[in-house]
Amino acid sequence: MNGNAAKKDAPVKSWAIGCIVGAAYFLAACFSFEIALGVSGVATVWPASGVFVSALLLARRNQIAAMAIAVAAASIAANVLYGASLGTALAFTTANVVEGLLISQLVIRTSGVPRTLDDQRWLATFFGAAVVGSAASAAIAALLAGELTLPFFVVWFTTVCLGMLIVTPLIVAAANEFPLKLKQVSCGSVLRFALFTGFVGIVCWAALALGEGQFLFLPVIAIAAATYTYGSRGAAISISLIAVIATLETDFSAPVIGEFALQWDTLFLQFYLLSLLCSVWPLSALMAEKAKLIDRYVQSTELLELAEKTARVGHWALEPDNATLIWSEEVFHIHGIDPGEPQLVGAMPLGEAGSLNRYHPEDRDRVRSLLLAAMEDLVPFAYEARIVRPDGVIRYVSSIGRPRYDASGAFRGLFGTFQDITEQTETLEALRVARRDALREAKTALRLSETDELTGIANRRKVFGELRAAARVAKASGTPMTIAVIDIDHFKAVNDRHGHHAGDKVLKRVAQIVSEQLRLGDCVGRIGGEEFLVVLPGEDGAAAHDIVERLRVEVAAEAWDIAGLEQVTMSAGLAAVDEIEGVEKAVQKADRALYEAKQSGRNLLRIAA
Ligand code: GH3
Ligand code: MG
Ligand code: MG
Repeated sequence: MNGNAAKKDAPVKSWAIGCIVGAAYFLAACFSFEIALGVSGVATVWPASGVFVSALLLARRNQIAAMAIAVAAASIAANVLYGASLGTALAFTTANVVEGLLISQLVIRTSGVPRTLDDQRWLATFFGAAVVGSAASAAIAALLAGELTLPFFVVWFTTVCLGMLIVTPLIVAAANEFPLKLKQVSCGSVLRFALFTGFVGIVCWAALALGEGQFLFLPVIAIAAATYTYGSRGAAISISLIAVIATLETDFSAPVIGEFALQWDTLFLQFYLLSLLCSVWPLSALMAEKAKLIDRYVQSTELLELAEKTARVGHWALEPDNATLIWSEEVFHIHGIDPGEPQLVGAMPLGEAGSLNRYHPEDRDRVRSLLLAAMEDLVPFAYEARIVRPDGVIRYVSSIGRPRYDASGAFRGLFGTFQDITEQTETLEALRVARRDALREAKTALRLSETDELTGIANRRKVFGELRAAARVAKASGTPMTIAVIDIDHFKAVNDRHGHHAGDKVLKRVAQIVSEQLRLGDCVGRIGGEEFLVVLPGEDGAAAHDIVERLRVEVAAEAWDIAGLEQVTMSAGLAAVDEIEGVEKAVQKADRALYEAKQSGRNLLRIAA
């Protein structure tokens, strides 16, 4: 139901809008005729064309026909009302309607519907279309009205063209921009705008009404000021104001000049308005472009700052004279300094004492000489250093950078990134400490796993490992090697008579005596209760016998500080390690030799056969 209602409403709405536009057109036409003293007079500006074109530019497609018919009716009525014959009225109306449709279609098809007057492309298209459309209109009017003279063509062209160039931007600005921005503007700003416009109006009126033309520069200043202050809106409204005031102040009854029957005043006024249009609209467009560029710059700066904040990486730049240093916001943040503080400018000439004073005293000179070298040799650089924040907190930072050059290749100073790496540095340091501790613990664990707990010498596992390694070397180098299995005599009796503790003491001391007597490449380990294995690389039987004999003598000569214990002796069995038989066989043979030594009365050495 609602849909049907909407469909029925659409034509009604189109006709309503058409009638409003027709009425506006009628009033604008009457205003011009009134001032130009009828259809035969020469109007300065034909604002009715501006009204029609702006309505067509803002209209929907289905509203165009109603609008054109309403405007045609209004045009015929106004022309007839001010003395035109029906034929002339029809001729002029045809020219004006065609011109409106032509210009609006040219603009819409080339640059689209006007969204804002700050769109340079749209404005240029509109100006071009207005010139083309006005020329077409002048030609049609001249042809249809039978007025094929140059003055008629020029007057028609200029009045219509000026009418459009002045009025259309004003209506487009009002229709497009005011409703959109109305919610954002405050009463104060509306009042300021109204006062400013009023002031421009008064200046224009005073300049045109009071002088003989010597004050015509004043409206130019006022319009430029309005454009600087309010951009395209200021330009549109102030130009319209001066057009109306100037038209009202022009004496259209003045005598005509030359055979073309043109009036000086009218011509001068048209030229004056055209000059204003041609200087103010480019200014407005440039200002809009500048505002757009500033917007883009602000936006990209904001994005850069956001990216730096997120990545926690800032940037800095140093001028070649190294007196000016630029920091991005994140660099301030990393330094713990408010970006608003002006203390930075000129604070860091690299060469001076006390410069780079935000770096830790121990890192300062290193950073300075690194940056000076980069500037002198024009090479990239990278460093890590500590900075001290104003509150005394130390942060680790890293900077990577390179020389900067301008478009002509001239050196422009240094550029560097700046990153807070405190967390990474602390994590790395913690990892380094943990790794060092772990290595130390592993080393201790390995030592413990290879050490006999009681005596502190190599345990069974370790000494057999050493034995196998030494055997491999001996085999490779073809050198001899001898082992000895040592066993303390009647050790059970030591335990039994003097206690287990005394037994331990004896074990430790014997291990110590043996260790002390051996040379650097030799090795001894505890392989059982009171049994030791001695590895003697590079020694043949006779030399090994001498070494172990010295051990036996030392042990037997030891004076014990254990009450009642006079002497402890040891027996040993020696065997050469045969590279073919291997170490296990050698140990067996040494065991057997030890057994023989025991059998032979103890405190003795025996060499395996
Ligand atoms: P032999 O002269 O024939 O070697 O006689 P022995 O008494 O030395 O030999 P035996 O094998 O009969 O006794 C070895 C003793 O060594 C038995 C054991 O109690 C003692 N023993 C083994 N390990 C330790 C130890 O760590 N500490 C102490 N105090 N005694 C140990
Ligand atoms: Mg034993
Ligand atoms: Mg024993």
